[in-house]
Amino acid sequence: MGIKVAKFGGSSVADGIQISKMRDIIVADPERRYIIVSAPGKRFEKDNKVTDLLYSCREQINQNLPIDQLFQVICDRFNSIKMNLDIDIDLQKEFDIILDHLKSNASADYVASRGEYLNAKLIAKYLGFDFVDSAEVIKFNEHGKFQDKETNAVLSAELAKHEYAVIPGFFGSRPDGRVKTFSRGGSDVTGALVARAVHADVYENWTDVSGFLAADPRIVKDPKPIHTITYKELRELSYMGANVLHESAVFPVKGAKIPINIRNTNDPEDRGTMITDEVSEEARERVITGIAGHKDFKVITIYKDRLNDEIGFLRRLSAIFEDLKIEIEHMPTGIDTVSVIVANANIDDKLDDVLDEIDRRLQPDSIDVFDDIALIATVGVGMSFRPGVSAKVFTALAEEHINIRMIDQGSSEMNIIIGVNNQDLERAIASIYDAFEGSGKDLKAHFS
Ligand code: ASP
Repeated sequence: MGIKVAKFGGSSVADGIQISKMRDIIVADPERRYIIVSAPGKRFEKDNKVTDLLYSCREQINQNLPIDQLFQVICDRFNSIKMNLDIDIDLQKEFDIILDHLKSNASADYVASRGEYLNAKLIAKYLGFDFVDSAEVIKFNEHGKFQDKETNAVLSAELAKHEYAVIPGFFGSRPDGRVKTFSRGGSDVTGALVARAVHADVYENWTDVSGFLAADPRIVKDPKPIHTITYKELRELSYMGANVLHESAVFPVKGAKIPINIRNTNDPEDRGTMITDEVSEEARERVITGIAGHKDFKVITIYKDRLNDEIGFLRRLSAIFEDLKIEIEHMPTGIDTVSVIVANANIDDKLDDVLDEIDRRLQPDSIDVFDDIALIATVGVGMSFRPGVSAKVFTALAEEHINIRMIDQGSSEMNIIIGVNNQDLERAIASIYDAFEGSGKDLKAHFS
């Protein structure tokens, strides 16, 4: 029998109805043996996530404000799940412990982690699975740095003792037992660590969407679902803004060659998106996998005669950004020009320093700064060695009279990055999508 690890996000465990859907999914497949849960999330748009309520409790204590009412709201959320699903568990005892800790100044990490902790306890009882406390098996060092190797060893040894278990996501502990959380959304990371530790065949990540779409549905009407995508393509798309998974969740499973399957708790028949290391047959067939874009970048273009002959120019240029601790997004080059593209948010208050340093260290002939640039990534492993793809992108934009401010294609030929004015972003994505949608096959037939 294989092993599936299934992580259920906040909206999939938000209330009794969602948790009973979750149980149906789990009992439908006995290979789903290790279940990771988030804290109860939003039940409707304006609802509060339990994690946010817990952080607010901690904040109220900081400001010497009473917390009893707010804490009661949290208890009520869990009590109603317990009642609706008729789970035989003594929650009051747990609430008392947490309230005591809260009042004696427990850390924000401890307080925030209790949402996952309580939910996992409840759900383990409901499913008849063992409960494994993440504080015992997810390890951080005394400075709060995650300990990968140690965690893997401890986690696999512990889980080998449990045929079926529920594990709370989001947190672990330091050597002295103090709770430490991952960053927000970190239950995805716990799920990936568990999948690796038990050598799972697949890491299922259950959420409230049926995986990834080829473009943002707010921009493109009914974009195609992406059924398979490689880890590399996902990186290209996700850093441009298509975030469904916590970034750090990819690395443990990718290294262990375990696919991630994004699934929808509200539509369990949908196959969702499978993220793999290998390029699927389906992916080879299609030209592009997805398009994603992001606004608000700056392009700093440096001109200097014979720049191309100057050894070390790019190194000295990038050192300026390194020294000022500014992340570089892209660095397309021409013969006598080079551009550096950075997110506005990363450079805004340092722009003058950057320009001064470029002047001082590189003595350029001139520098231009272009504001309000949006970047669009058109991504697909299927585009490598297939001629005509960029032509199609550029033609689509030309037909829409959209001015291209910058072009960059990685040598992996897996993505084409273009820069356009902020206000053209949506139109550009829609027109690129349009150019490929339904015509991918034509293009292939034409060139193969
Ligand atoms: N509950 C935590 C958060 O809201 C962790 C998670 O759901 O992954 O960030």
